[in-house]
Amino acid sequence: MFVDYAEIKIKAGHGGAGSVHFHREKYVPKGGPDGGDGGKGGDVIFQSDHNLKSLMDFNYQKEYLAGDGMPGGGRDCYGKAAIDLHVKVPVGTIVKNKETGETIIDFNADNMVHVMAKGGLGGKGNARFASSTNQTPFYAQKGLPGQEMEIILELKLIADVGIIGLPNVGKSSLISQMTHCKPKIANYPFTTLVPNLGVVKYKNEKEFIIADMPGLIEDAHHGHGLGIQFLRHIERTTILVHVLDISDFYNRDVLDDFQVINNELELYNPDIKKKEQIVVFNKIDAVADRKKITQLKKKFKKYQVLALSAATGEGVAELIDRLASKVT
Ligand code: GDP
Ligand code: MG
Repeated sequence: MFVDYAEIKIKAGHGGAGSVHFHREKYVPKGGPDGGDGGKGGDVIFQSDHNLKSLMDFNYQKEYLAGDGMPGGGRDCYGKAAIDLHVKVPVGTIVKNKETGETIIDFNADNMVHVMAKGGLGGKGNARFASSTNQTPFYAQKGLPGQEMEIILELKLIADVGIIGLPNVGKSSLISQMTHCKPKIANYPFTTLVPNLGVVKYKNEKEFIIADMPGLIEDAHHGHGLGIQFLRHIERTTILVHVLDISDFYNRDVLDDFQVINNELELYNPDIKKKEQIVVFNKIDAVADRKKITQLKKKFKKYQVLALSAATGEGVAELIDRLASKVT
């Protein structure tokens, strides 16, 4: 399993100081204390959101600070509490205390809310300290500090979209064309080969993970090489993109290529074969007569077919649109 990983610092706001103040008014010579309380510091609140699929954002922003509470004022004015800082994490994120290593929370469901660092309480103003023995207290409390902590975020990545196809059809090229960033992967047990995973950010609405299965070769189902690991991985994807190289379709039977891979899937696990597949005709930039593509499409009647070029990017946006509508 692939694990996305990030280390960040969170810091809640300090409470505002209480105020030392005395009532002043014409003809009232000895006004009593009226210093108000300071406002509470902002909390850092985490919430799980199914629209996020990776910890990518946490590799850009590493510190999350909530604001401080405002100090109290005269005339019993309370200081304003700071606004809480809300941070969204993908469902499946496990948060650990970096210092102790202990798990703080496992966001194993959507919309879970957890106060990760509590803002400090505001200090009491001097009005609170007036008593019969001390009618003019000259002190007020300071605000309490906000909690701060360094935390580790971990997320098991499950690809939403699996890219399958024979070697050299353009799977890796397609992933780089679709994604702007690769997750930082920790603890990958198969050191010889780094999985080709990418995060697609869709219109700031959602993310999804695509994974290329470089080990999927003809005898992968026998457990040779790395194939089996990747086959396990695609068992859990929502949809498959089956990439075919059509640059040479005069000389090469593309439908045959398609069946080779599908037979492979079927042998390993018939359920995978039932997964929805979008067929991609790649390398259209290398096809001189595009009318021929229409004829070729007819051979794939039962499937949605998209013709594109992973090299130039032509047609890739449409693939992303379609995939975005399929993944949750
Ligand atoms: P993979 O083995 O399926 O991951 O394939 P790669 O992405 O490594 O691509 C194999 C070769 O095909 C590389 O030389 C790519 O530059 C080339 N290639 C990939 N996509 C396209 C495309 O859309 N058009 C053309 N002309 N070449 C492509
Ligand atoms: Mg590749």
